[in-house]
Amino acid sequence: MPELPEVETVRRTLAPVLVGATIVAALRGEHPEDILLDPWQFFARRVRRRRIVSLDRRGKFLALRGDDGTRLLVHLGMTGELRLAHPGVPPERHCHLALVLRSERPLPAVLADRRQRFLLRYQDVRRFGRVRLLDPAGWEALCARLGPEPLDPDLDAPTLWQRLRTRRSSIKTALLDQSLLAGIGNIYADEALFRAGLHPARRCDTLSRADVERLLAELRTVLSEAIEAAGTTIRDYRDGTGRPGSYQFRLRVYGKPAGTPCPRCDGPLERVRLAGRSSTYCPRCQPPS
Ligand SMILES: [Zn+2]
Repeated sequence: MPELPEVETVRRTLAPVLVGATIVAALRGEHPEDILLDPWQFFARRVRRRRIVSLDRRGKFLALRGDDGTRLLVHLGMTGELRLAHPGVPPERHCHLALVLRSERPLPAVLADRRQRFLLRYQDVRRFGRVRLLDPAGWEALCARLGPEPLDPDLDAPTLWQRLRTRRSSIKTALLDQSLLAGIGNIYADEALFRAGLHPARRCDTLSRADVERLLAELRTVLSEAIEAAGTTIRDYRDGTGRPGSYQFRLRVYGKPAGTPCPRCDGPLERVRLAGRSSTYCPRCQPPS
């Protein structure tokens, strides 16, 4: 499932092409209503002739901001992909909708036709992703519901510790809660907890200030490294140009079967289920308390 580094990678690959381009039309694909939360006619009418002024990310959400202030919000869910394509290339299966755009600047011939038109396609095998339009108030309300960005330098460890010390849930459960921190999912929660030496089932209200300082530092390291590596591709994830990430080769514990030697102490890794999700950890390097 795409988490902060994957969504940020998609943003970085799409932004140079999308920003400044104008939406010419929206195209229906297979069952757009499975993905699109707005009625088709409303959506198609609202996006037409809008110039894209920015492509923003908040947590795991991407937002194409139009020159009228409306944002086209995209959540990739489990297997959603945004993909640039030449208008002459037929859609793959599971393409639910597409935008036809016209670039102001010349684009390579593999991407755009002679009139500088190209496509942005949304495809999603499992259809857990969502697309919708938001007015500025709707966008602000969404941002307010989400916790701070873990890479935001304004977020400090004492503030995070204050927010955690009243929680009785496990730290793993808290890290997956998008209202505590935005953008973290199973992969980067497991990796950061391992690197911080914290057991995933450790209760938040038992963490010391130093524990939280270490955890925030390791979260930032792992997220930054993963962005540099263009994200983690376990199965489906691709960037906006169709390329996989490479952070899967650097994962230390996430997804490893129980019994795999710990990369730090060589003892066997274990798996535990927390909040319905599997967590991999080392019982020696991540003691329960
Ligand atoms: Zn270990």
